[in-house]
Amino acid sequence: MDFLVCKFGGSSVATSEKMKKIVSILKKNKNRRCVVLSAPGKAPGFNVKVTDLLIESAQKALNDQDYSATIQEIRSRFMAIYEPLGVPDDVQEQIYSEIDKRLQSPKDHEAKFRDLVVSAGEDINSKLFAQYLNTLGMNAQYVSPKDASLIVTDQFGDAQPLDEVAMRLASLKRICAEKIVIFPGFFGYTEKGEVATFSRGGSDLTGAILAEAIDAAEYENWTDVDGIFSAHPGIVDNPSQISALTYKEMRELSYIGFNVLHEEAVKPIMKKKIPIRLRNTNNIENKGTLIVSERLPNERDIIGVASGGGYCSFTLQKFLMNREKGFGRKTLSIIEDMDLSYEHCPSGVDNISVILDQTQLKAETVNNIIRAFDEQLTPEEIKTEFGIALVSLVGEGLIHKIGVLGQAATALSESGVNIKMVNQGSSEISIIFGIDASDEKKAVNALYNAFFIE
Ligand code: ASP
Repeated sequence: MDFLVCKFGGSSVATSEKMKKIVSILKKNKNRRCVVLSAPGKAPGFNVKVTDLLIESAQKALNDQDYSATIQEIRSRFMAIYEPLGVPDDVQEQIYSEIDKRLQSPKDHEAKFRDLVVSAGEDINSKLFAQYLNTLGMNAQYVSPKDASLIVTDQFGDAQPLDEVAMRLASLKRICAEKIVIFPGFFGYTEKGEVATFSRGGSDLTGAILAEAIDAAEYENWTDVDGIFSAHPGIVDNPSQISALTYKEMRELSYIGFNVLHEEAVKPIMKKKIPIRLRNTNNIENKGTLIVSERLPNERDIIGVASGGGYCSFTLQKFLMNREKGFGRKTLSIIEDMDLSYEHCPSGVDNISVILDQTQLKAETVNNIIRAFDEQLTPEEIKTEFGIALVSLVGEGLIHKIGVLGQAATALSESGVNIKMVNQGSSEISIIFGIDASDEKKAVNALYNAFFIE
């Protein structure tokens, strides 16, 4: 049987009603046999995510402060979900005692301790949800990442799955054949048997790893939005929903502005070309957005317009720069030596610009960069600019379409947007424009109107 992996995010597991919705989703398709759960997120009356409460309690424990009120809040969150669902009190109590036990474990390695406590959110939720399904006679089984061998590196708080992890997890397929597997997201175990979490939002990655492991027919990622839109709904009114896009297009869209999936979640899926479908727990009828390795060429050439602010540029001007060997390399090694990453590096005959995410800079870093450029590269001029927004036109079809750049530039100029930089990577999957941050909304609307409104 071709099983589906279904991952439900924090907002989809935040109330009893949402849990009931998950049950009806599982009942609708009997191939939905591998379920990954996040910890409960925000819900009406609860404006803090369980994961954040756990982080708070771990910090209090590390500071030797009283954490009992925070623990009580976490228990109440779970009780508000599972009591109305009829999970017996004694079963609940037994599972909640896990939190106290974890908080009393050794604290000599802070990050390790934090991961042990913080992962309790998904772990408890998955145990209780499996209990709930069993009270409904749905034959579910909680599977621990330890028993399943989800082995990760020991970078606590930012663990990575080991390369061969999917192979080790293959036995899950056998369990899926008999039962509905309920698997906690967000963490795995190191080779020494210690809990280590992925970075925030990491349950997406767990879902992707399981999809690879069981050769899933599809990886369904359930959240509270219908899917991916061609532009951000906060910027463009009623943008169209994208029915299908490729992994590469999604990567380009989420590089700036689109918060779609955890960045690392696509890697395990890409290897086996497993489609990902983003779906809305609150709108089951909507088919969501499908992310695939290839899409039909006759579908839209351009799939979306993404944007994001908070970038800055350093531009170096030097006569005969084009003849000076190693100028580009030296420019970028200065950035690397300061432990910074760069986004783009457009260049002209006698000038080169480096575009950086300005959130990684401190005031003194800017001066240090300028000084290093000046001393090591002796340019005639160094110009800095802050508050740049990047606007990106994305689509696999760009490669064979003539005149997109011209059409985009015309749309931007007609709406009075000054283009500071253009970057079209050689993959020709996106064209990125650097503009003044104050023009971001205007620019996105201009491009959306030019390419999406017929
Ligand atoms: N609960 C974790 C977080 O809030 C992981 C997840 O939901 O994916 O980041």
